[in-house]
Amino acid sequence: MSITNIAKASASATGQAVFDYPVHSFINGHVQAPGGGAYLDIIDPGNGAVIGSLADSSAADVEDAVQAAKEAYSDGRWSEKDPEERERILFRLADLVDRDSEILSEVEARDTGKPLAEARLDIAEAAAVLRYFAGWCTKASGTVVPAPREYFATTTREPLGVCVAITPWNYPLPILTYKVAPALAFGNTVVAKPSELASASSVLLAHLAHEAGVPAGVFNVVTGGRTAGEALTSSRDVDKIAFTGSTATGKAVLRAAAETLTPATVELGGKSAQLIFADADLEAAVEGVAAGIWTNAGQICIAGSRVLVQESIKDAFISALTERTGNLALGHSMNPGTDIGPVISEGQLTKIKAFLQEAEEAGATVQTCSTAIPQAGYFLAPTIVTGIPTGHPLASHEVFGPVLAVDTFSDEQDAITKANSTEYGLAAGLWTKDVSRVHRLTRKLEAGTVWANTYGVFHPTLPFGGMKASGFGRELGPQAVEHYTHSKTSVIHLSAS
Ligand code: NAD
Repeated sequence: MSITNIAKASASATGQAVFDYPVHSFINGHVQAPGGGAYLDIIDPGNGAVIGSLADSSAADVEDAVQAAKEAYSDGRWSEKDPEERERILFRLADLVDRDSEILSEVEARDTGKPLAEARLDIAEAAAVLRYFAGWCTKASGTVVPAPREYFATTTREPLGVCVAITPWNYPLPILTYKVAPALAFGNTVVAKPSELASASSVLLAHLAHEAGVPAGVFNVVTGGRTAGEALTSSRDVDKIAFTGSTATGKAVLRAAAETLTPATVELGGKSAQLIFADADLEAAVEGVAAGIWTNAGQICIAGSRVLVQESIKDAFISALTERTGNLALGHSMNPGTDIGPVISEGQLTKIKAFLQEAEEAGATVQTCSTAIPQAGYFLAPTIVTGIPTGHPLASHEVFGPVLAVDTFSDEQDAITKANSTEYGLAAGLWTKDVSRVHRLTRKLEAGTVWANTYGVFHPTLPFGGMKASGFGRELGPQAVEHYTHSKTSVIHLSAS
């Protein structure tokens, strides 16, 4: 019985998800127990309970997955299928994600602590990304090059080989599909390693891919933590690494990739600013700021974790945001009334609390917007911090929790200087009714994405990625072709007739 079937049987019989069973790697079309026999606890951050166990793969397990992917690439069982056939299989996979969306959503919610309603959106996004890239199977084409007349020259896009996808825990399934869907669409094989804090949905996706007709060895998932990640990034049989995670880990990944000269794209941390001008629609801006920082308890790479508000409307803005936030309910992922879930771990909660305490001691004003904090679980009330002393790290470092740093600006130049003042460059939000200002500032903001009068819009058609310490490369949209294929130039001499 596959894990998918186990999950469904279990869910219908007991209301519990896949965690009744250990979550194992899926390698070469099979469930594989860890060679070293090691397991990690799966903890529900909404109550601190151990709800399952996860195989902690060794370097030898990872090698099995890499060799399976290498063989599957070399014999052409996937890359040499007709593009229409790959397209059909990937569309079928998207349909299977839809079919199992409830179980996948529950797994994601319990693993990450996010409200079930948010997890459902994640699963729907993953299916949409799979469909978008399924369409690309039959759309990627080459060029005829205007070379000297005695030659006929073309470029074609060819797969890279074995692609590694290393992903974080905050949006496990969507972020996995950003990497796996284009990799498979263009004929590569994959070894994915999800975060040890939320792996189950990724393993389930591999089972569903198998059911959809993706041949054995083409899409492998190894579970585990840093050991498994390091084994993947140091392998000489890997042809591309796509990493999403913290900036610190991203640097380690790039160092390893440099040793083997493996191309790598990295999507890293952020400290994105939302700029609120006095002419903005205040109600809409408050909604956008609240969604940008309280969604997923602020644990989003593009969290709008800094607000820069024009001096003249500072008090009105903070009071409206405080009122809006006070209505939000903290709670367990599976509680239908929950607006904000816990942070991912006890360690993360302790770290954030210490950061806030230190900022308060340095002179900042720390205001919590909710009093009803659940007793069990790793909950932190949504927190607004004002008056942060110049140069204090709370204004520039990623917190990864429901903490909003507020500052003011006087004019456009001041706003841009402050917005660009961190090492990150992932995203920014602009709130103003002046369209010319939107264009002027969009050019100057050091960010991979700028949203104006909205925030956090993701869609498979919209390329996403960072600048500066937020990484490089773009996921989603047509640019993915460049990251999952290479360009082959072919030159044919035309003999005289
Ligand atoms: P993390 O860096 O701790 O872990 C990410 C992944 O890397 C996990 O699978 C982990 O097991 C693995 N890993 C750990 N050490 C490794 C090593 N030495 N070599 C290879 N792999 C290793 O990140 P996290 O806590 O899971 O996620 C949160 C971070 O991710 C935040 O900084 C957030 O901003 C960032 N993030 C960025 C984006 C983006 O698109 N830019 C999206 C989501 C999250």
